[in-house]
Amino acid sequence: MREFEFTRATSLDGAAEQFASGGEAAFIAGGHTLLPAMKSRLRMPDRLIDITGIPGLDRIERDGDRLWIGATARHATVADDATVKSAIPSLAKLALLIGDPQVRNRGTLGGSITNNDPAADYPAACLALDATIETTGGRYQADDFFLGMFTTALADGEIVTRVGFRLPQAGAYAKFRHPASRYAMVAVYVARFVDGWRVAVTGAAPAVFRWTGAEAALAAGQPTDGLLLDPSELNSDIHASAEYRAHLCTVMLAKAVAELV
Ligand SMILES: Cc1cc2nc3c(=O)[nH]c(=O)nc-3n(C[C@H](O)[C@H](O)[C@H](O)COP(=O)(O)OP(=O)(O)OC[C@H]3O[C@@H](n4cnc5c(N)ncnc54)[C@H](O)[C@@H]3O)c2cc1C
Repeated sequence: MREFEFTRATSLDGAAEQFASGGEAAFIAGGHTLLPAMKSRLRMPDRLIDITGIPGLDRIERDGDRLWIGATARHATVADDATVKSAIPSLAKLALLIGDPQVRNRGTLGGSITNNDPAADYPAACLALDATIETTGGRYQADDFFLGMFTTALADGEIVTRVGFRLPQAGAYAKFRHPASRYAMVAVYVARFVDGWRVAVTGAAPAVFRWTGAEAALAAGQPTDGLLLDPSELNSDIHASAEYRAHLCTVMLAKAVAELV
């Protein structure tokens, strides 16, 4: 790892000022993705700006039909928070399935969705729960935020401040974990709303996506066990072939639907 400067921001304006003060800068939250990337020299920022000390950026609150979770809320906090557990229990369960205790005690919601790893859990929650992502630059709907592998709609220097998850009537998350990393080999989030269903898949393809065929089948009250994604659009690697991932998607969908019903 090469030398870098480390600063702590105490306000969003202060973080933006530090970001713009020359050289290549990066915000750091839990550091569980950024630091490994720096160790392997995939990222070489001149300055790290810690945003976890900004007051209020980890707040969790329910407001109308949304549950708002601050960007620096750690996975362990979300998993254990009484408001999250009562508003969207499936979201608390998802947070508990991320990594191991060390990862959950450091990693944050904002870091996870900004990184947008194709096997990460929170991007699936954002898509399935029709989330609004609030940033220092404005608001995005989740459908417009996740652009592709490790790519989002965020501009350079833009900070995610909080995420508003729409409260479903019911939701369920089924995850087949990689036994070593605990990232999703495949995971499916199913949410039922008063006006329809949303189904999101992570781990299976180069980027998180909505399974519109499953959404239509659920809306029509049709069985989903015969649904199969096209393997030619899914990932194939040393851990699982595309055909196996397609099969896992069908199985995880059935698991989530059974839990939800
Ligand atoms: C062993 C291991 C296992 C893991 N298993 C899983 C798993 O099962 N499921 C899963 O989903 N994830 C998993 N992760 C990833 C983990 O959840 C990370 O914590 C997360 O992806 C990144 O969050 P962070 O807070 O650590 O972000 P950081 O590493 O601090 O930052 C990541 C990126 O986001 C940027 N950033 C951070 N916060 C903000 C913000 N608020 N606004 C704008 N930019 C921001 C940073 O500049 C950086 O580019 C695992 C990680 C490890 C090391």
